[in-house]
Amino acid sequence: MEVTCPTCGGAIVPDDVNVAKDVAFCRTCNEAFSLSGLVDEAKGDFAGVDVHEIPAGVVVENYGSRLTVSASTRNGWAFGWLIFAIGFGIVAPGVMIGSQIKGGTFEIALTLFAVPFAAVGALATYMTLLMTIGRVRIELDADRLEVFTGFASLGRRKSVRLASVTRVYLAASGTRVNDQPVPCIWMDIENDKPLKFGTWLRDDRKRYVGALLQQLVRDRQHARL
Ligand SMILES: [Zn+2]
Repeated sequence: MEVTCPTCGGAIVPDDVNVAKDVAFCRTCNEAFSLSGLVDEAKGDFAGVDVHEIPAGVVVENYGSRLTVSASTRNGWAFGWLIFAIGFGIVAPGVMIGSQIKGGTFEIALTLFAVPFAAVGALATYMTLLMTIGRVRIELDADRLEVFTGFASLGRRKSVRLASVTRVYLAASGTRVNDQPVPCIWMDIENDKPLKFGTWLRDDRKRYVGALLQQLVRDRQHARL
């Protein structure tokens, strides 16, 4: 483990680190620091997360060079989306089109009017499924890191090189629930726009996945030094 001084940023030699006493000493600054405090500070948004304690709803499989992390996006918002899915996807178009079938007429305007309702219904159906059987799946194969969000094979897939990831942290996803911004996992990528995902993960799963990715990125950065 590499320990750096929070004051001057200099490296603290192993002789000046006492894990048992939870203390690190910087000779340059002539100051002692709490070791666990330093480690937690370095973790930023993922302070306090132990990657060895896997939360419920997360499955980690490690085959040496290949690692997969699967986190369930099941959450309490599913029911709300189900109401939307039924209302917009079934009830509203059903009423608009059903009345025509009953009357034996065909009104193009009313049929077209039903289209946006059906589209919202389709989106709501996707969200309902995402929040019941959906998952965020991360697959690391050598240097290729793939992030998938969806259910079965229906969803969004993006892959990047692990070596091009510079930082992992939590920031606003752009989505708000009950007027509160919902954070998601951000990965800064060299010469590319950040990769954002995990908005719908429960907080403990989101922090766990982020912490694990942060560790993978750091291990990789240290391996290159
Ligand atoms: Zn120092």
